[in-house]
Amino acid sequence: MRLSTFHLATVKEVPADAEIVSHQLMLRAGMIRKLAAGLYTWSPLGLRVLRKVEGIVRDEMNRAGAIEVLMPAVQPRDLWDETGRWEKFGGQLLKIKDRKDAEYCFGPTHEEVITDFARAELHSYKQLPLNFYQIQTKFRDEIRPRFGVMRAREFLMKDSYSFHLSAECLEREYWNMYETYGRIFTRLGLQFRAVQADAGAIGGNVTHEFHVLADSGEDAIAFSDGSDYAANVEKAEALAPTQTRPAAVATLERVATPTQKTIDDVSAFLAVAPEACVKTILVRGFDGLVALCVRGDHEVNEIKAGKLAELAGESTLADETEIVKALGCKPGFIGPVGLPTSIPVIVDRSAAVLADFVCGGNQDGTHYRGANWERDAQITRVADLRKVVDGDLSPDGQGVIRIARGIEVGHVFQLGQKYAEAMKASVVDQGGKSQPMSMGCYGIGVSRIVAAAIEQNFDAAGIIWPEPMAPWRVALCLINPRNDANVAAVADALYAELGARGIEVVLDDRGLRPGGMFADMELIGIPHRVVISERGVAAGTFEYRARRESESRQLSRDEVLALFA
Ligand code: ATP
Ligand code: MG
Repeated sequence: MRLSTFHLATVKEVPADAEIVSHQLMLRAGMIRKLAAGLYTWSPLGLRVLRKVEGIVRDEMNRAGAIEVLMPAVQPRDLWDETGRWEKFGGQLLKIKDRKDAEYCFGPTHEEVITDFARAELHSYKQLPLNFYQIQTKFRDEIRPRFGVMRAREFLMKDSYSFHLSAECLEREYWNMYETYGRIFTRLGLQFRAVQADAGAIGGNVTHEFHVLADSGEDAIAFSDGSDYAANVEKAEALAPTQTRPAAVATLERVATPTQKTIDDVSAFLAVAPEACVKTILVRGFDGLVALCVRGDHEVNEIKAGKLAELAGESTLADETEIVKALGCKPGFIGPVGLPTSIPVIVDRSAAVLADFVCGGNQDGTHYRGANWERDAQITRVADLRKVVDGDLSPDGQGVIRIARGIEVGHVFQLGQKYAEAMKASVVDQGGKSQPMSMGCYGIGVSRIVAAAIEQNFDAAGIIWPEPMAPWRVALCLINPRNDANVAAVADALYAELGARGIEVVLDDRGLRPGGMFADMELIGIPHRVVISERGVAAGTFEYRARRESESRQLSRDEVLALFA
C-alpha cells in the first residue's frame, strides 16, 4: 500500500472522553470514529487490523473442524418466546418492529436462530456431531457503553454452536474449543488466561472465560501462584479456614457507637481489627428477609449468595424501610445477635470461626463486643459467601490466590439440552428414539480483541502491534524524494521486492517531514520501520528500527530482506 493513496487520519490531541489507553490510541491512530454511543465506524486502517484478527479466528476454527455459516442479525420474536428469553434477556435486547408491526430483535447472540436451523436440518445421530460458527455483528444495548470498541453496543463476535447426541461428545468438543481458543490467542501474540467462570443466566454447567490480562480490565481474576488454577472472582471458592473456632471468653457487651456505621469506622472507634468484626447484610429472599454474615474485611459475593436455597437467585439488598420495620434499626447497625427467628442467618466460612467478635447491635447507635456464635447468635447455616481476596489459599490446595485484572475476550459453555428441549431440536439415536441434542456455545469478541491487544502493547509513542495483528508488518519511510530521484527508485524497488515476497508493506510516500512520518508510523504501531534517505542510498544502506527497540541500525538491502525471510 502506498500511503499517498490510502486514507490515514491520525490525530495529535488525546480525545477528551477516552478514558483508557486503547480507546485513546485507536482514536488518535484514526482506526475508529464514533457515530453515536457504542457505535463505531472502522476506518480503512482499523479494518485492516480487525480483518487480521478475524482471519486468525476463522483459520483456527476451520482447522478445529467447525463449519462457517452466516445468520441474520435481525431475529423474530417468536423464537425468543420459545426459550423465554424475550423477557428474560432484559434491557440489553434491542427490540424493533417492522412495518406490519411484527416484533423482532437485533441479535445479541444466536442460540435461538441456530437451534431453529438445527431442528430443521438435523434429524439423525448420523449427522452429528457438528459445530457451526459465524463471524457476525451483534447488538447489545449496554447500560454503559464505554472504552470504545471494548464495550460497544454494536460489535463483531465469532459465535459457534455445537450439536451432539451425548453429553460425552459435547464435552470432547468443549475441550477441542478450549484448546482452539488457546491457539487463537497465542497466535495473536496475546498474554491470556483461561479461567473458570459462572454460568450465569445463559444456563449450562461447565464454562470458562478467556481473559487478556491488563490493568484496565473490567473483570477480576483469581489465580494461584502455585498451580494452573484460575477463576473469575465471582466463581472462585473461598476455602474454609483450617483453624477451628476458639472457645468464647469475653462476655457480651453492648457499646455505644453513635455515628459509626461502617466496619472501618467501628473498628477504628473500638480499636479492633476489621478481621475481628462480623459484617451483616439483609437481603430479600424469595420467602422473606435473610441475613448474610461475613468477616469485616471480606465482601459478600452476590453470585454465590444468589445460589443459596433461601435466595434462589433473588439477592436484592433490603432497603432501609424494610430493615427498620424488621429490626427497628438502620442498616449500619445490623448484627446476628437477637435477630427475629424468622430471619435465617447464613454465615460465611471465615466469619463462622470467629469468637469474641464485634457486630451490629440491632439498635441504632450501638454495636456488640464479645459476641459469640451459638452462645449469643444462632447460625442457620455456614456457606461459602464471600469474594476471595489476595492471599487466600488456592481452592485446589496448591499455592496462594493472587488477583489480576482481565478483559474477557472469549467464553466457552456447555449448554447441555436446555435450548434443544425448549425448542424441540431432536434427532433419532441409534435405537430409533428421539432425543434432544446436547449443545455447546463458544464466543469470541473479535472487535474487543483489537482494543485488548493495545491495552497489552503500547508505549508513550503509541500502539505496538503484535506482528500477526499489525495493519502492515513493515513501513518504508521515504525521505525527501524530490532531492534525488534515486531515492524514490530505491524505495519503489524495495517496496516491490517485499511485496513480491508476500510481506505486507506500506510505503510512506506522503512527502511529510521525517519527524511527522516517524511519529505516525509509531502511533499506528507498525512493527518494522525502514528509512530510505539520500545519505543511505549514497552509502548503500537503510536505517532500520524495530518498534520495540530504541536504537536504529544501518542495514544492507540483503540484511533488510533477511529480516523478513
Ligand atoms: P461481558 O461480561 O464483557 O459483558 P458477556 O459475558 O456478556 O461479556 P458473552 O455473551 O460471553 O459476553 O459474549 C462473547 C464475547 O463477546 C465476550 O467474551 C466478549 O469478548 C464479547 N463481547 C460481549 N459484549 C461485548 C460488548 N459490549 N462489546 C464488545 N465485545 C463484547
Ligand atoms: Mg461471557
